[in-house]
Amino acid sequence: MRGAAFTVALLCCASISTHAAPPDESSTLSARLLAQAESASKDDPSRFAALLKQINESTLELTPEQKLHLQYLNTLSTQNSGHDAETIKSYEHILSQTKDPSLSVSIRVKLVALLRNNNQYLQAYTIANTLMEEYPNITDTALRLSVLMAIARVKVAQHQYDDALSYTKQMEALVKTHTSTPSRTQERLCYAKAFQAQILVYKGDATGLGDSELIASTRAPYDEAVDICLRTGLIGQANALRLDRASLINEYESPARALVFLRSIAPSIRKSGIQPQIASLHVTFSQIYLRLNKLDLAIKSAQAAVAAANPKGHNWMLEAAYEVLYQAAQKQGDSATALAMYQKYIDQYKTTVDDAQAQAVAYQMVKQDVMAKKLKLEELGKQNKILQLRQSLDRKSAETSRLYILLLLFVLASIALWAYRTKHSQLRFRRMAREDDLTGAFNRQHFLEQAESILHRLQKTDGEACLMILDMDHFKRVNDQYGHVSGDTVLRHVTGICRGELRASDVFGRLGGEEFGVLMPNCTPQQGKDIGDRIRHTLVTTPVEVREDESLTITTSIGLTSTRRSGYQLKRLLIHADEALYEAKRNGRNQLVIRST
Ligand code: GH3
Ligand code: MG
Ligand code: MG
Repeated sequence: MRGAAFTVALLCCASISTHAAPPDESSTLSARLLAQAESASKDDPSRFAALLKQINESTLELTPEQKLHLQYLNTLSTQNSGHDAETIKSYEHILSQTKDPSLSVSIRVKLVALLRNNNQYLQAYTIANTLMEEYPNITDTALRLSVLMAIARVKVAQHQYDDALSYTKQMEALVKTHTSTPSRTQERLCYAKAFQAQILVYKGDATGLGDSELIASTRAPYDEAVDICLRTGLIGQANALRLDRASLINEYESPARALVFLRSIAPSIRKSGIQPQIASLHVTFSQIYLRLNKLDLAIKSAQAAVAAANPKGHNWMLEAAYEVLYQAAQKQGDSATALAMYQKYIDQYKTTVDDAQAQAVAYQMVKQDVMAKKLKLEELGKQNKILQLRQSLDRKSAETSRLYILLLLFVLASIALWAYRTKHSQLRFRRMAREDDLTGAFNRQHFLEQAESILHRLQKTDGEACLMILDMDHFKRVNDQYGHVSGDTVLRHVTGICRGELRASDVFGRLGGEEFGVLMPNCTPQQGKDIGDRIRHTLVTTPVEVREDESLTITTSIGLTSTRRSGYQLKRLLIHADEALYEAKRNGRNQLVIRST
Protein backbone atom coordinates (compact mmCIF):
# COMPACT_ATOMS: atom_id res chain seq x y z
CA MET A 1 0.00 0.00 0.00
CA ARG A 2 2.79 2.37 0.80
CA GLY A 3 4.03 1.86 -2.72
CA ALA A 4 0.82 2.81 -4.38
CA ALA A 5 0.96 6.38 -3.14
CA PHE A 6 4.48 6.54 -4.34
CA THR A 7 3.49 5.40 -7.81
CA VAL A 8 0.84 8.07 -7.95
CA ALA A 9 3.34 10.57 -6.72
CA LEU A 10 5.54 9.88 -9.66
CA LEU A 11 2.80 10.25 -12.17
CA CYS A 12 0.53 12.85 -10.83
CA CYS A 13 0.72 16.48 -11.60
CA ALA A 14 4.04 16.39 -13.35
CA SER A 15 3.70 20.10 -13.79
CA ILE A 16 0.62 22.20 -13.77
CA SER A 17 1.63 25.78 -13.50
CA THR A 18 1.43 28.88 -15.59
CA HIS A 19 3.56 31.94 -15.39
CA ALA A 20 2.82 35.51 -16.32
CA ALA A 21 4.53 36.90 -19.41
CA PRO A 22 7.18 39.52 -18.72
CA PRO A 23 6.08 43.03 -19.52
CA ASP A 24 8.94 43.81 -21.89
CA GLU A 25 7.71 44.04 -25.51
CA SER A 26 10.88 42.52 -27.00
CA SER A 27 10.60 39.46 -24.82
CA THR A 28 7.03 38.53 -25.74
CA LEU A 29 8.16 35.91 -28.23
CA SER A 30 10.41 34.29 -25.68
CA ALA A 31 7.59 34.49 -23.18
CA ARG A 32 5.20 32.80 -25.58
CA LEU A 33 7.66 30.02 -26.36
CA LEU A 34 8.34 29.47 -22.67
CA ALA A 35 4.62 29.31 -21.92
CA GLN A 36 4.06 26.85 -24.77
CA ALA A 37 6.93 24.69 -23.55
CA GLU A 38 5.59 24.66 -20.06
CA SER A 39 2.13 23.77 -21.26
CA ALA A 40 3.59 20.93 -23.34
CA SER A 41 5.57 19.67 -20.36
CA LYS A 42 2.29 18.54 -18.82
CA ASP A 43 0.95 16.29 -21.51
CA ASP A 44 3.16 16.27 -24.62
CA PRO A 45 6.73 15.17 -23.83
CA SER A 46 7.95 15.23 -27.45
CA ARG A 47 6.55 18.69 -28.13
CA PHE A 48 8.02 19.79 -24.82
CA ALA A 49 11.44 18.50 -25.80
CA ALA A 50 11.19 20.14 -29.24
CA LEU A 51 10.14 23.51 -27.89
CA LEU A 52 12.82 23.43 -25.24
CA LYS A 53 15.41 22.64 -27.87
CA GLN A 54 14.18 25.53 -29.97
CA ILE A 55 14.43 27.99 -27.10
CA ASN A 56 17.81 26.73 -25.96
CA GLU A 57 19.26 27.01 -29.44
CA SER A 58 17.65 30.31 -30.41
CA THR A 59 19.37 33.67 -30.19
CA LEU A 60 16.39 35.17 -28.46
CA GLU A 61 17.17 37.65 -25.81
CA LEU A 62 15.82 36.58 -22.45
CA THR A 63 15.15 38.68 -19.37
CA PRO A 64 16.82 37.42 -16.18
CA GLU A 65 13.46 36.07 -15.04
CA GLN A 66 12.94 34.29 -18.37
CA LYS A 67 16.39 32.74 -18.06
CA LEU A 68 15.37 31.33 -14.71
CA HIS A 69 12.14 30.05 -16.23
CA LEU A 70 14.10 28.32 -18.99
CA GLN A 71 16.44 26.82 -16.42
CA TYR A 72 13.36 25.53 -14.58
CA LEU A 73 12.00 23.91 -17.76
CA ASN A 74 15.38 22.37 -18.52
CA THR A 75 15.54 20.96 -15.00
CA LEU A 76 12.00 19.69 -15.41
CA SER A 77 12.93 17.89 -18.63
CA THR A 78 15.72 15.99 -16.89
CA GLN A 79 13.97 15.52 -13.57
CA ASN A 80 13.25 11.83 -14.08
CA SER A 81 16.76 10.99 -15.22
CA GLY A 82 17.65 9.67 -11.79
CA HIS A 83 20.00 12.49 -10.82
CA ASP A 84 17.81 13.76 -8.05
CA ALA A 85 20.59 15.50 -6.15
CA GLU A 86 21.41 17.69 -9.15
CA THR A 87 17.76 18.33 -9.86
CA ILE A 88 17.21 19.43 -6.28
CA LYS A 89 20.26 21.69 -6.45
CA SER A 90 19.09 23.27 -9.68
CA TYR A 91 15.57 23.87 -8.32
CA GLU A 92 16.97 25.34 -5.13
CA HIS A 93 19.17 27.68 -7.15
CA ILE A 94 16.25 28.94 -9.27
CA LEU A 95 14.14 29.27 -6.15
CA SER A 96 16.76 31.48 -4.54
CA GLN A 97 16.91 33.73 -7.61
CA THR A 98 13.37 34.08 -8.94
CA LYS A 99 11.07 36.89 -8.09
CA ASP A 100 8.15 35.27 -9.89
CA PRO A 101 5.81 33.99 -7.16
CA SER A 102 4.18 31.44 -9.49
CA LEU A 103 7.53 29.96 -10.51
CA SER A 104 8.52 29.88 -6.87
CA VAL A 105 5.40 27.88 -5.97
CA SER A 106 5.84 25.47 -8.90
CA ILE A 107 9.41 24.76 -7.89
CA ARG A 108 8.57 24.26 -4.26
CA VAL A 109 5.81 21.79 -5.16
CA LYS A 110 8.38 19.78 -7.12
CA LEU A 111 10.97 20.10 -4.37
CA VAL A 112 8.58 18.74 -1.73
CA ALA A 113 8.09 15.54 -3.76
CA LEU A 114 11.76 15.25 -4.71
CA LEU A 115 13.07 15.87 -1.22
CA ARG A 116 10.63 13.33 0.24
CA ASN A 117 11.66 10.72 -2.31
CA ASN A 118 15.23 11.35 -1.27
CA ASN A 119 14.42 11.08 2.41
CA GLN A 120 15.12 14.75 3.09
CA TYR A 121 11.96 15.07 5.12
CA LEU A 122 12.85 18.09 7.19
CA GLN A 123 13.47 20.23 4.11
CA ALA A 124 10.42 18.77 2.40
CA TYR A 125 8.09 19.49 5.32
CA THR A 126 9.53 22.93 5.86
CA ILE A 127 8.85 23.83 2.24
CA ALA A 128 5.41 22.20 2.43
CA ASN A 129 4.66 24.47 5.34
CA THR A 130 5.56 27.58 3.38
CA LEU A 131 3.21 26.38 0.65
CA MET A 132 0.44 25.80 3.17
CA GLU A 133 0.90 29.31 4.50
CA GLU A 134 0.92 30.84 1.05
CA TYR A 135 -1.94 28.76 -0.32
CA PRO A 136 -4.67 31.36 0.35
CA ASN A 137 -2.74 33.90 -1.73
CA ILE A 138 -2.35 31.67 -4.76
CA THR A 139 -4.94 32.47 -7.40
CA ASP A 140 -3.95 30.28 -10.34
CA THR A 141 -6.10 27.12 -10.29
CA ALA A 142 -3.41 24.81 -11.63
CA LEU A 143 -0.94 26.06 -9.05
CA ARG A 144 -3.48 25.72 -6.29
CA LEU A 145 -4.15 22.14 -7.30
CA SER A 146 -0.50 21.21 -7.34
CA VAL A 147 -0.02 22.82 -3.92
CA LEU A 148 -3.03 21.01 -2.49
CA MET A 149 -1.71 17.71 -3.80
CA ALA A 150 1.76 18.33 -2.37
CA ILE A 151 0.30 19.19 1.02
CA ALA A 152 -2.10 16.24 0.96
CA ARG A 153 0.83 13.94 0.30
CA VAL A 154 2.81 15.38 3.14
CA LYS A 155 -0.22 14.93 5.36
CA VAL A 156 -0.44 11.26 4.41
CA ALA A 157 3.25 10.83 5.20
CA GLN A 158 2.51 12.36 8.57
CA HIS A 159 -0.47 9.98 9.05
CA GLN A 160 -2.89 12.88 9.16
CA TYR A 161 -5.42 11.21 6.94
CA ASP A 162 -8.40 13.39 7.70
CA ASP A 163 -6.38 16.48 6.83
CA ALA A 164 -5.14 14.80 3.68
CA LEU A 165 -8.68 13.85 2.72
CA SER A 166 -9.92 17.37 3.23
CA TYR A 167 -7.15 18.64 0.94
CA THR A 168 -8.17 16.20 -1.80
CA LYS A 169 -11.79 17.27 -1.31
CA GLN A 170 -10.63 20.87 -1.79
CA MET A 171 -8.89 19.77 -4.95
CA GLU A 172 -12.09 18.16 -6.17
CA ALA A 173 -14.12 21.29 -5.47
CA LEU A 174 -11.51 23.48 -7.13
CA VAL A 175 -11.38 21.27 -10.21
CA LYS A 176 -15.15 21.26 -10.58
CA THR A 177 -15.49 25.01 -10.28
CA HIS A 178 -12.41 26.27 -12.07
CA THR A 179 -10.99 24.04 -14.75
CA SER A 180 -11.64 25.27 -18.25
CA THR A 181 -11.88 22.24 -20.55
CA PRO A 182 -13.89 19.10 -19.64
CA SER A 183 -10.95 16.79 -20.41
CA ARG A 184 -8.67 18.81 -18.16
CA THR A 185 -11.31 18.68 -15.44
CA GLN A 186 -11.56 14.89 -15.72
CA GLU A 187 -7.80 14.59 -15.67
CA ARG A 188 -7.45 16.57 -12.50
CA LEU A 189 -10.42 14.84 -10.99
CA CYS A 190 -8.65 11.54 -11.71
CA TYR A 191 -5.67 12.58 -9.58
CA ALA A 192 -7.81 13.91 -6.79
CA LYS A 193 -10.08 10.86 -6.71
CA ALA A 194 -7.19 8.42 -6.99
CA PHE A 195 -5.47 9.96 -4.05
CA GLN A 196 -8.69 10.07 -2.09
CA ALA A 197 -9.26 6.35 -2.59
CA GLN A 198 -5.76 5.58 -1.36
CA ILE A 199 -6.07 7.82 1.66
CA LEU A 200 -9.29 6.05 2.57
CA VAL A 201 -7.36 2.78 2.71
CA TYR A 202 -4.63 4.26 4.90
CA LYS A 203 -7.26 5.73 7.14
CA GLY A 204 -9.20 2.45 7.38
CA ASP A 205 -5.96 0.65 8.13
CA ALA A 206 -5.00 3.15 10.79
CA THR A 207 -8.39 3.07 12.48
CA GLY A 208 -8.39 -0.73 12.65
CA LEU A 209 -11.19 -1.39 10.19
CA GLY A 210 -11.83 -5.10 9.64
CA ASP A 211 -10.47 -6.68 6.44
CA SER A 212 -13.77 -7.14 4.69
CA GLU A 213 -15.04 -3.74 5.81
CA LEU A 214 -11.94 -2.05 4.49
CA ILE A 215 -12.22 -3.78 1.14
CA ALA A 216 -15.94 -3.05 0.89
CA SER A 217 -15.78 0.56 1.96
CA THR A 218 -13.00 1.46 -0.46
CA ARG A 219 -14.28 -0.43 -3.50
CA ALA A 220 -16.53 2.33 -4.82
CA PRO A 221 -13.99 5.15 -4.44
CA TYR A 222 -11.39 3.02 -6.25
CA ASP A 223 -13.71 2.05 -9.05
CA GLU A 224 -14.83 5.63 -9.47
CA ALA A 225 -11.28 6.93 -9.57
CA VAL A 226 -10.11 4.23 -11.99
CA ASP A 227 -13.09 4.93 -14.18
CA ILE A 228 -12.41 8.66 -14.33
CA CYS A 229 -8.71 8.10 -15.01
CA LEU A 230 -9.37 5.60 -17.78
CA ARG A 231 -11.91 7.85 -19.42
CA THR A 232 -9.36 10.65 -19.43
CA GLY A 233 -6.76 8.37 -20.93
CA LEU A 234 -4.53 8.46 -17.88
CA ILE A 235 -3.73 4.77 -18.08
CA GLY A 236 -0.67 5.04 -15.85
CA GLN A 237 -2.67 6.60 -13.12
CA ALA A 238 -5.45 4.04 -13.49
CA ASN A 239 -2.91 1.23 -13.35
CA ALA A 240 -1.26 2.61 -10.25
CA LEU A 241 -4.65 2.49 -8.60
CA ARG A 242 -5.43 -0.99 -9.87
CA LEU A 243 -2.06 -2.29 -8.67
CA ASP A 244 -2.87 -0.86 -5.34
CA ARG A 245 -6.27 -2.51 -5.40
CA ALA A 246 -4.80 -5.90 -6.31
CA SER A 247 -2.48 -5.68 -3.35
CA LEU A 248 -5.45 -4.80 -1.13
CA ILE A 249 -7.52 -7.73 -2.35
CA ASN A 250 -4.61 -10.08 -1.73
CA GLU A 251 -4.08 -8.80 1.74
CA TYR A 252 -7.63 -8.33 2.93
CA GLU A 253 -9.84 -10.52 0.74
CA SER A 254 -8.43 -13.46 -1.17
CA PRO A 255 -5.17 -14.12 -3.05
CA ALA A 256 -7.05 -16.04 -5.71
CA ARG A 257 -9.23 -13.08 -6.53
CA ALA A 258 -6.24 -10.81 -6.38
CA LEU A 259 -4.47 -13.03 -8.91
CA VAL A 260 -7.39 -12.90 -11.31
CA PHE A 261 -7.57 -9.15 -11.00
CA LEU A 262 -3.83 -8.61 -11.31
CA ARG A 263 -3.62 -10.81 -14.39
CA SER A 264 -6.34 -8.71 -16.00
CA ILE A 265 -4.37 -5.51 -15.58
CA ALA A 266 -0.84 -6.86 -16.10
CA PRO A 267 -0.75 -6.41 -19.91
CA SER A 268 -1.68 -2.78 -19.63
CA ILE A 269 1.01 -2.19 -16.99
CA ARG A 270 3.68 -3.92 -19.06
CA LYS A 271 2.58 -1.99 -22.11
CA SER A 272 2.84 1.35 -20.37
CA GLY A 273 6.57 0.79 -19.79
CA ILE A 274 6.47 2.67 -16.50
CA GLN A 275 9.35 1.06 -14.69
CA PRO A 276 8.29 1.48 -11.04
CA GLN A 277 4.87 0.09 -11.93
CA ILE A 278 6.43 -2.94 -13.59
CA ALA A 279 8.52 -3.53 -10.47
CA SER A 280 5.41 -3.08 -8.38
CA LEU A 281 3.57 -5.60 -10.59
CA HIS A 282 6.29 -8.21 -9.89
CA VAL A 283 6.15 -7.57 -6.16
CA THR A 284 2.39 -7.91 -6.08
CA PHE A 285 2.50 -11.16 -8.08
CA SER A 286 5.14 -12.52 -5.69
CA GLN A 287 3.05 -11.65 -2.66
CA ILE A 288 -0.04 -13.29 -4.17
CA TYR A 289 1.87 -16.44 -5.17
CA LEU A 290 3.36 -16.68 -1.68
CA ARG A 291 -0.08 -16.64 -0.14
CA LEU A 292 -1.24 -19.15 -2.71
CA ASN A 293 1.76 -21.21 -1.69
CA LYS A 294 3.08 -21.19 -5.27
CA LEU A 295 6.59 -20.75 -3.94
CA ASP A 296 8.55 -21.07 -7.18
CA LEU A 297 6.38 -18.50 -8.88
CA ALA A 298 6.62 -16.29 -5.81
CA ILE A 299 10.42 -16.46 -5.83
CA LYS A 300 10.56 -15.82 -9.56
CA SER A 301 8.37 -12.77 -9.31
CA ALA A 302 10.22 -11.45 -6.27
CA GLN A 303 13.56 -11.78 -8.05
CA ALA A 304 12.13 -9.96 -11.03
CA ALA A 305 10.96 -7.22 -8.68
CA VAL A 306 14.43 -6.91 -7.12
CA ALA A 307 15.88 -6.59 -10.61
CA ALA A 308 13.33 -3.98 -11.68
CA ALA A 309 13.33 -1.94 -8.50
CA ASN A 310 15.52 1.08 -8.16
CA PRO A 311 18.01 0.06 -5.47
CA LYS A 312 18.37 3.64 -4.36
CA GLY A 313 14.98 4.97 -3.58
CA HIS A 314 12.18 2.45 -3.60
CA ASN A 315 12.90 0.67 -0.38
CA TRP A 316 9.39 -0.61 0.14
CA MET A 317 9.57 -2.69 -3.06
CA LEU A 318 12.89 -4.26 -2.15
CA GLU A 319 11.69 -4.83 1.36
CA ALA A 320 8.52 -6.55 0.10
CA ALA A 321 10.47 -8.60 -2.45
CA TYR A 322 13.09 -9.79 0.07
CA GLU A 323 10.35 -10.60 2.55
CA VAL A 324 8.71 -12.85 -0.03
CA LEU A 325 12.11 -14.43 -0.87
CA TYR A 326 12.87 -15.05 2.79
CA GLN A 327 9.45 -16.53 3.60
CA ALA A 328 9.42 -18.68 0.46
CA ALA A 329 12.91 -20.04 1.26
CA GLN A 330 11.81 -20.74 4.79
CA LYS A 331 8.72 -22.57 3.56
CA GLN A 332 10.94 -24.58 1.25
CA GLY A 333 13.21 -25.43 4.19
CA ASP A 334 16.15 -23.62 2.58
CA SER A 335 17.50 -22.11 5.80
CA ALA A 336 20.65 -20.69 4.27
CA THR A 337 18.76 -18.74 1.59
CA ALA A 338 16.09 -17.83 4.12
CA LEU A 339 18.73 -16.37 6.43
CA ALA A 340 20.44 -14.48 3.62
CA MET A 341 17.11 -13.11 2.38
CA TYR A 342 16.05 -12.38 5.91
CA GLN A 343 19.19 -10.30 6.35
CA LYS A 344 18.44 -8.35 3.17
CA TYR A 345 14.82 -7.99 4.20
CA ILE A 346 15.84 -6.70 7.65
CA ASP A 347 18.30 -4.25 6.07
CA GLN A 348 15.53 -2.87 3.90
CA TYR A 349 13.09 -2.97 6.73
CA LYS A 350 15.56 -1.10 8.90
CA THR A 351 15.93 1.50 6.19
CA THR A 352 12.18 1.80 6.08
CA VAL A 353 12.01 2.13 9.85
CA ASP A 354 14.86 4.64 9.83
CA ASP A 355 13.05 6.38 7.09
CA ALA A 356 9.82 6.42 9.05
CA GLN A 357 11.76 7.63 12.05
CA ALA A 358 13.41 10.36 10.02
CA GLN A 359 10.00 11.34 8.71
CA ALA A 360 8.54 11.43 12.20
CA VAL A 361 11.48 13.43 13.54
CA ALA A 362 11.24 15.87 10.64
CA TYR A 363 7.54 16.15 11.18
CA GLN A 364 8.05 16.85 14.86
CA MET A 365 10.72 19.42 14.11
CA VAL A 366 8.57 21.25 11.61
CA LYS A 367 5.67 20.95 14.02
CA GLN A 368 7.81 22.47 16.77
CA ASP A 369 8.80 25.21 14.40
CA VAL A 370 5.18 25.86 13.52
CA MET A 371 4.26 25.74 17.21
CA ALA A 372 6.97 28.28 17.95
CA LYS A 373 5.62 30.49 15.21
CA LYS A 374 2.11 30.07 16.54
CA LEU A 375 3.29 30.92 20.04
CA LYS A 376 4.99 33.99 18.69
CA LEU A 377 1.81 34.88 16.87
CA GLU A 378 -0.16 34.43 20.07
CA GLU A 379 2.42 36.51 21.88
CA LEU A 380 2.07 39.21 19.25
CA GLY A 381 -1.68 38.90 19.57
CA LYS A 382 -1.41 39.37 23.29
CA GLN A 383 0.86 42.35 22.86
CA ASN A 384 -1.61 43.75 20.42
CA LYS A 385 -4.37 43.22 22.97
CA ILE A 386 -2.32 44.99 25.60
CA LEU A 387 -1.77 47.88 23.22
CA GLN A 388 -5.46 47.97 22.43
CA LEU A 389 -6.26 47.90 26.13
CA ARG A 390 -3.76 50.63 26.77
CA GLN A 391 -5.24 52.63 23.97
CA SER A 392 -8.74 52.20 25.29
CA LEU A 393 -7.44 53.04 28.76
CA ASP A 394 -5.84 56.14 27.33
CA ARG A 395 -9.10 56.96 25.65
CA LYS A 396 -10.94 56.29 28.87
CA SER A 397 -8.54 58.33 30.95
CA ALA A 398 -8.82 61.13 28.39
CA GLU A 399 -12.56 60.85 28.72
CA THR A 400 -12.23 60.81 32.49
CA SER A 401 -9.91 63.79 32.34
CA ARG A 402 -12.39 65.61 30.18
CA LEU A 403 -15.10 64.73 32.66
CA TYR A 404 -12.91 65.94 35.50
CA ILE A 405 -12.24 69.18 33.69
CA LEU A 406 -15.93 69.61 33.02
CA LEU A 407 -16.71 68.82 36.62
CA LEU A 408 -14.02 71.21 37.76
CA LEU A 409 -15.34 73.92 35.47
CA PHE A 410 -18.82 73.28 36.76
CA VAL A 411 -17.60 73.45 40.35
CA LEU A 412 -15.64 76.59 39.59
CA ALA A 413 -18.63 78.15 37.88
CA SER A 414 -20.80 77.16 40.82
CA ILE A 415 -18.28 78.64 43.22
CA ALA A 416 -18.08 81.81 41.15
CA LEU A 417 -21.83 82.04 41.02
CA TRP A 418 -22.06 81.33 44.71
CA ALA A 419 -19.32 83.87 45.43
CA TYR A 420 -21.08 86.40 43.24
CA ARG A 421 -24.39 85.77 44.93
CA THR A 422 -22.79 85.85 48.35
CA LYS A 423 -20.97 89.04 47.53
CA HIS A 424 -24.13 90.44 46.07
CA SER A 425 -26.18 89.60 49.12
CA GLN A 426 -23.35 90.70 51.37
CA LEU A 427 -23.38 94.03 49.60
CA ARG A 428 -27.13 94.07 49.81
CA PHE A 429 -27.02 93.28 53.49
CA ARG A 430 -24.35 95.84 54.03
CA ARG A 431 -26.39 98.40 52.15
CA MET A 432 -29.45 97.33 54.03
CA ALA A 433 -27.48 97.77 57.23
CA ARG A 434 -26.54 101.32 56.41
CA GLU A 435 -29.21 102.57 54.03
CA ASP A 436 -32.73 103.60 54.62
CA ASP A 437 -35.12 101.39 52.72
CA LEU A 438 -37.48 104.07 51.57
CA THR A 439 -35.15 106.80 50.45
CA GLY A 440 -31.76 105.14 49.99
CA ALA A 441 -30.15 107.73 52.26
CA PHE A 442 -27.97 106.60 55.16
CA ASN A 443 -30.10 105.31 57.99
CA ARG A 444 -29.88 107.01 61.32
CA GLN A 445 -27.36 104.59 62.79
CA HIS A 446 -24.98 104.76 59.87
CA PHE A 447 -25.35 108.51 59.56
CA LEU A 448 -24.41 108.93 63.20
CA GLU A 449 -21.39 106.63 62.83
CA GLN A 450 -20.15 108.40 59.71
CA ALA A 451 -20.71 111.82 61.23
CA GLU A 452 -18.92 110.82 64.39
CA SER A 453 -15.88 109.52 62.50
CA ILE A 454 -15.66 112.68 60.36
CA LEU A 455 -15.94 114.90 63.39
CA HIS A 456 -13.26 112.91 65.12
CA ARG A 457 -10.95 113.34 62.17
CA LEU A 458 -11.75 117.06 61.85
CA GLN A 459 -11.16 117.58 65.51
CA LYS A 460 -7.63 116.27 65.07
CA THR A 461 -6.90 118.60 62.20
CA ASP A 462 -8.86 121.40 63.72
CA GLY A 463 -11.14 121.36 60.76
CA GLU A 464 -14.62 122.90 60.68
CA ALA A 465 -17.99 121.27 59.99
CA CYS A 466 -21.69 122.13 59.94
CA LEU A 467 -24.59 119.96 60.95
CA MET A 468 -28.08 120.65 59.82
CA ILE A 469 -31.37 118.94 60.47
CA LEU A 470 -34.24 119.26 58.04
CA ASP A 471 -37.83 118.57 59.06
CA MET A 472 -40.63 118.72 56.50
CA ASP A 473 -43.29 121.21 57.26
CA HIS A 474 -46.75 119.93 58.08
CA PHE A 475 -45.98 116.55 56.80
CA LYS A 476 -48.83 115.00 58.68
CA ARG A 477 -51.12 116.90 56.35
CA VAL A 478 -49.49 115.32 53.30
CA ASN A 479 -50.18 111.93 54.75
CA ASP A 480 -53.64 112.82 55.76
CA GLN A 481 -54.52 114.45 52.47
CA TYR A 482 -52.86 112.13 49.97
CA GLY A 483 -52.18 109.00 51.95
CA HIS A 484 -48.98 107.37 53.15
CA VAL A 485 -47.91 106.17 49.73
CA SER A 486 -47.87 109.74 48.45
CA GLY A 487 -46.10 110.75 51.65
CA ASP A 488 -43.40 108.21 50.82
CA THR A 489 -43.13 109.62 47.31
CA VAL A 490 -42.63 113.04 48.73
CA LEU A 491 -39.92 111.72 51.06
CA ARG A 492 -38.06 110.19 48.07
CA HIS A 493 -38.52 113.47 46.20
CA VAL A 494 -36.98 115.40 49.06
CA THR A 495 -34.06 112.98 49.23
CA GLY A 496 -33.37 113.45 45.51
CA ILE A 497 -33.33 117.23 45.84
CA CYS A 498 -31.07 117.18 48.87
CA ARG A 499 -28.59 114.93 47.09
CA GLY A 500 -28.59 117.25 44.13
CA GLU A 501 -27.61 120.22 46.27
CA LEU A 502 -25.12 118.52 48.59
CA ARG A 503 -21.39 118.09 48.01
CA ALA A 504 -19.77 114.67 47.57
CA SER A 505 -18.07 114.99 50.92
CA ASP A 506 -21.30 115.73 52.78
CA VAL A 507 -22.92 112.95 54.79
CA PHE A 508 -26.65 112.73 54.35
CA GLY A 509 -29.02 110.51 56.32
CA ARG A 510 -32.61 110.01 57.34
CA LEU A 511 -32.86 110.54 61.07
CA GLY A 512 -36.44 109.27 61.26
CA GLY A 513 -39.88 110.13 59.87
CA GLU A 514 -39.56 113.17 57.68
CA GLU A 515 -36.41 114.36 59.39
CA PHE A 516 -33.01 114.36 57.65
CA GLY A 517 -29.54 115.19 58.90
CA VAL A 518 -26.56 116.51 56.95
CA LEU A 519 -23.01 116.73 58.20
CA MET A 520 -20.89 118.99 56.05
CA PRO A 521 -17.14 118.75 56.65
CA ASN A 522 -14.84 121.68 55.87
CA CYS A 523 -17.80 123.97 55.91
CA THR A 524 -18.37 127.37 57.51
CA PRO A 525 -21.82 128.26 58.92
CA GLN A 526 -22.35 130.56 55.98
CA GLN A 527 -21.48 127.86 53.48
CA GLY A 528 -23.83 125.54 55.35
CA LYS A 529 -26.59 128.12 55.25
CA ASP A 530 -26.11 128.57 51.52
CA ILE A 531 -26.46 124.84 50.95
CA GLY A 532 -29.53 124.67 53.18
CA ASP A 533 -31.15 127.61 51.49
CA ARG A 534 -30.49 126.11 48.09
CA ILE A 535 -32.26 122.97 49.21
CA ARG A 536 -35.20 124.93 50.49
CA HIS A 537 -35.32 126.94 47.31
CA THR A 538 -35.24 123.91 45.07
CA LEU A 539 -37.93 122.24 47.12
CA VAL A 540 -40.20 125.20 46.75
CA THR A 541 -39.63 125.51 43.07
CA THR A 542 -39.96 121.76 42.36
CA PRO A 543 -43.47 120.44 42.93
CA VAL A 544 -43.93 116.71 43.34
CA GLU A 545 -46.69 114.77 41.65
CA VAL A 546 -48.63 112.89 44.29
CA ARG A 547 -51.60 111.79 42.22
CA GLU A 548 -52.47 111.82 38.55
CA ASP A 549 -52.46 115.47 37.52
CA GLU A 550 -51.99 116.62 41.06
CA SER A 551 -48.74 118.05 42.38
CA LEU A 552 -47.77 119.62 45.63
CA THR A 553 -44.94 121.70 46.86
CA ILE A 554 -43.26 120.81 50.10
CA THR A 555 -41.25 123.10 52.30
CA THR A 556 -38.75 122.32 54.98
CA SER A 557 -37.47 123.97 58.10
CA ILE A 558 -33.76 123.67 58.79
CA GLY A 559 -31.77 123.97 61.97
CA LEU A 560 -28.07 124.46 61.53
CA THR A 561 -25.11 124.53 63.82
CA SER A 562 -21.33 124.33 63.37
CA THR A 563 -18.38 122.92 65.25
CA ARG A 564 -17.30 126.47 65.76
CA ARG A 565 -20.48 126.97 67.85
CA SER A 566 -21.21 123.52 69.26
CA GLY A 567 -17.81 121.75 69.35
CA TYR A 568 -16.97 118.32 67.91
CA GLN A 569 -19.36 116.26 70.02
CA LEU A 570 -22.08 114.91 67.79
CA LYS A 571 -24.63 114.68 70.52
CA ARG A 572 -24.18 118.37 71.30
CA LEU A 573 -24.27 119.32 67.68
CA LEU A 574 -27.52 117.40 67.22
CA ILE A 575 -29.14 119.09 70.18
CA HIS A 576 -28.08 122.52 68.98
CA ALA A 577 -29.27 121.86 65.42
CA ASP A 578 -32.54 120.55 66.76
CA GLU A 579 -32.98 123.67 68.84
CA ALA A 580 -32.34 125.83 65.78
CA LEU A 581 -34.87 123.74 63.85
CA TYR A 582 -37.39 124.20 66.56
CA GLU A 583 -36.81 127.86 66.30
CA ALA A 584 -37.35 127.80 62.55
CA LYS A 585 -40.63 126.04 63.07
CA ARG A 586 -41.64 128.43 65.59
CA ASN A 587 -40.71 131.33 63.35
CA GLY A 588 -43.15 130.17 60.73
CA ARG A 589 -41.38 127.29 58.94
CA ASN A 590 -39.74 127.18 55.50
CA GLN A 591 -36.63 128.80 56.85
CA LEU A 592 -33.14 128.04 58.08
CA VAL A 593 -32.01 129.03 61.54
CA ILE A 594 -28.39 128.98 62.56
CA ARG A 595 -27.64 128.26 66.14
CA SER A 596 -26.36 131.56 67.31
CA THR A 597 -24.89 130.84 70.69
P1 GH3 B 1 -44.40 120.25 61.52
O1 GH3 B 1 -44.38 121.17 60.42
O2 GH3 B 1 -44.55 120.82 62.82
O3 GH3 B 1 -43.18 119.39 61.50
O4 GH3 B 1 -45.64 119.38 61.28
P2 GH3 B 1 -45.63 117.91 60.95
O5 GH3 B 1 -46.95 117.48 60.48
O6 GH3 B 1 -44.53 117.59 59.98
O7 GH3 B 1 -45.33 117.27 62.33
P3 GH3 B 1 -44.28 116.12 62.73
O8 GH3 B 1 -42.98 116.52 62.20
O9 GH3 B 1 -44.35 115.96 64.23
O10 GH3 B 1 -44.90 114.89 62.14
C1 GH3 B 1 -44.23 113.87 61.42
C2 GH3 B 1 -45.17 113.05 60.63
O11 GH3 B 1 -44.53 112.46 59.58
C3 GH3 B 1 -45.81 112.00 61.45
C4 GH3 B 1 -45.98 110.86 60.51
O12 GH3 B 1 -47.28 110.71 60.14
C5 GH3 B 1 -45.22 111.28 59.29
N1 GH3 B 1 -44.33 110.29 59.01
C6 GH3 B 1 -43.29 109.86 59.77
N2 GH3 B 1 -42.60 108.91 59.10
C7 GH3 B 1 -43.27 108.75 57.90
C8 GH3 B 1 -43.03 107.87 56.78
O13 GH3 B 1 -42.14 107.08 56.74
N3 GH3 B 1 -43.93 108.03 55.75
C9 GH3 B 1 -44.99 108.89 55.75
N4 GH3 B 1 -45.79 108.96 54.69
N5 GH3 B 1 -45.22 109.65 56.78
C10 GH3 B 1 -44.34 109.61 57.83
MG1 MG C 1 -40.93 115.88 62.29
MG1 MG D 1 -42.41 117.94 60.27
